[in-house]
Amino acid sequence: MSTLFVVGEVERAEVTRALDALAGVCDRRVQVADLPGLFVRLYSDRLAGSRWNYEEGVSVVVHAGGSAESRELDATFRAFLPVFNLVALEQRAAAARLPELLRELPAQNAACRDRIRRMAHWMYYGGSGSCSSRVYSIVRQLRATGEPRSAARAIPSAVEAVDFVSLLAGATRGGEPRYWRLLSTWGFQPHSLGAAELVYCAFVLLRKLSADAGVGLSDNRLLLFLFTLEASYHQVNKFHNFRHAVDVMQATWRLCENIIDDRLQVLLLSMAAIGHDIGHPGSNNMLLTKFGAPVATAYGESVLENMHKDFFQQLLKSQWPQLLGLSQSLCKGESQYNLIAETILATDMALHAEYVDKLKENHRIDNLKMLTSLIIKAADISNVTRPLAISAQWAYLITLEFRDCSLLEEYQAKGDGGQSAPQDEESGHTNSGRLLSPDELVDKYPCIPGGQIFFIDTFAEQFFKEFCQKFPELNFLIDNVQSNKKFWLEKL
Ligand SMILES: [Zn+2]
Repeated sequence: MSTLFVVGEVERAEVTRALDALAGVCDRRVQVADLPGLFVRLYSDRLAGSRWNYEEGVSVVVHAGGSAESRELDATFRAFLPVFNLVALEQRAAAARLPELLRELPAQNAACRDRIRRMAHWMYYGGSGSCSSRVYSIVRQLRATGEPRSAARAIPSAVEAVDFVSLLAGATRGGEPRYWRLLSTWGFQPHSLGAAELVYCAFVLLRKLSADAGVGLSDNRLLLFLFTLEASYHQVNKFHNFRHAVDVMQATWRLCENIIDDRLQVLLLSMAAIGHDIGHPGSNNMLLTKFGAPVATAYGESVLENMHKDFFQQLLKSQWPQLLGLSQSLCKGESQYNLIAETILATDMALHAEYVDKLKENHRIDNLKMLTSLIIKAADISNVTRPLAISAQWAYLITLEFRDCSLLEEYQAKGDGGQSAPQDEESGHTNSGRLLSPDELVDKYPCIPGGQIFFIDTFAEQFFKEFCQKFPELNFLIDNVQSNKKFWLEKL
């Protein structure tokens, strides 16, 4: 869905006419008083988790211009709302740019509403060097990451003015104790939580961990960091979205509570976990490489993991540089070791067998690099270690994402003749909002049990067997893997 935002008053008749014409190719028109009002509206819409997520269409922001901050608006969007499709337009340029916008926006909006064409654009666009599209692409973000620090990287006053605490206030039922209860158990169930609640979960956890480590931020700065991070994940992805990021952070933290005492290490590893899939396009390294995505050429190996690492480090550099410094100087004597970067790279499943071998070879895991890599890996594949009802929801979501990967592969192989697909209304809930049970999910998608058995047999069972042998206090992990496996085997 696309929005035409008009910031401030419009006085000239030719601008009014241009705006009326632009409104005709957008889904709605929204008037805001000023730039802080614009950001409040963008963030509130995004948290509402509706179609107004700024990924399923291109939105145009027409503003009065004149200030240095308004001239930097496009760069501000890239830095603080990376995956949004937003374009800034000064009022005085509106009439001149109108023909081009009327010509191009309908096609770009249509591409954004099609989940396969949209994914193809994110992944493959921009290889030829041109990057003029208004739709998000990995190339666009890579370029923004490589740009030198500009005024837009400092926090602009329009963003600084947003009261993030009050943005969350209305959306979090039951207050902090309720969310601590949810977070503190291995039965963490994020599938019924909306975007605002997920941000709130991350906020209460990171506020505590950073205070314990003596490196806390103010509440509003911590929330700005989390809102930026949420806007760096694709909300429209089925599996690899902010929900998965919060889930992996929660798992990492719970595992650390059993294994690691050092509060700074726990904070850094939990941070790595929430950032480990930033910018994930909902596909995989094979598809990026097979069809020559520019990001595959840029990194060569561990393509997505290198990309996540660089995107996340750039975000930390601009919003929480102290943590990046601590991450790089954590191990005395190992000057090259950077905990956040190394652990994000460890999540590449192509390295999985190596980690299983290392678990088998080593009687004890006392090397910090090995220990932290194993914990984040365990958390990243922890879906199969959760209680069955939760595990089945994750299984369902990854099944949907794999299905889209197959459609994407077909689409790329056939060029424009491939099958594309509109945004679907798939949900793991009933109409009344109840989560579907494992049996109901299998009825809906009979291929789920086979996929789960394959994943458990190929990756998870051996890993968690070895992992739990080293850390017997975590034996519930392998117990859950095996009881879930038993359920799926009965469904084959
Ligand atoms: Zn992940």
